[in-house]
Amino acid sequence: MDVIKITPRGYCYGVVDAIQLAKQVARDPSTPKPVYVLGQIVHNRHAVESLTALGIITLDGANRVELLERIAQGSVVFTAHGVSPAVKQRAREKGLHCVDATCPDVTRTHDLVRALAARGYDIIYIGKKGHPEPEGVLGEAPGRVRLVESEADVAALAIGGERVAVTTQTTLSKWDTERLLQLIRQRYPHVEVYNEICDATQRRQEAAVAQSHAADLVIVVGDRRSNNSNRLVEVVTKLASRPAYLIDNAEELRPEWLVGVRRVAVTSGSSTPSEITREVIRRLEAWPVEVTTAAVG
Ligand code: SF4
Repeated sequence: MDVIKITPRGYCYGVVDAIQLAKQVARDPSTPKPVYVLGQIVHNRHAVESLTALGIITLDGANRVELLERIAQGSVVFTAHGVSPAVKQRAREKGLHCVDATCPDVTRTHDLVRALAARGYDIIYIGKKGHPEPEGVLGEAPGRVRLVESEADVAALAIGGERVAVTTQTTLSKWDTERLLQLIRQRYPHVEVYNEICDATQRRQEAAVAQSHAADLVIVVGDRRSNNSNRLVEVVTKLASRPAYLIDNAEELRPEWLVGVRRVAVTSGSSTPSEITREVIRRLEAWPVEVTTAAVG
């Protein structure tokens, strides 16, 4: 099988730093133990398992303040998605050693929201409900930030103030947000727009769209919970008009997808470890194109 290895793909600097930081804490004899991570360090099962192997305990769940209550002592790592000030404060109150692995790009959104709220703005935040990143951002200015995910959410907005701003979750796609931005502009023509989709997400999506055109099929390697991996499937399907499948690892490759396929493109989310993607590429390169086609014919 001819395999197009889309670049850039895979781990972004925010993810690399978060994982390294957590591992450093686990290996450092001077940091209080046990070491907990509040939520998945990044949304990838393999990355989480690599931390578990070092004795790091991942506490998974939507409400981070509640998760904190399960910790009696030790160190707590805040993930790359960021946490709200309330979570940080509660961790300090509990006397936990806090390690902040929030990606600098997410921190920038937190800073922006705080600054806008301080200047009296009502803030609309385009993001995914139930994802930890919006939870952290909303906590920067409780009551001042409205999370919208759909056109219905935009229609339901009721903002009376003169100062309105809109910003976005870092791992969305600009194509994703365009329609909602258009609707928000119609409702609030004076809205100030702050696009916070991060560079790593944007470049992976643009590369996936540009480099998929030459392929019959696209495989995205990533966890089903990974927002940026799901967005890669979406942009390839919508903008490159190619079939695309999200798989967690090489075992999930399905022979029927590859029937009649001569060239496949592979990319991966920014939370997917490289070795998982490399194994997918190895399997595909060894895939017998003629045999697969003949088997069906
Ligand atoms: Fe940071 Fe973007 Fe990576 Fe998220 S996807 S960790 S915001 S660089």
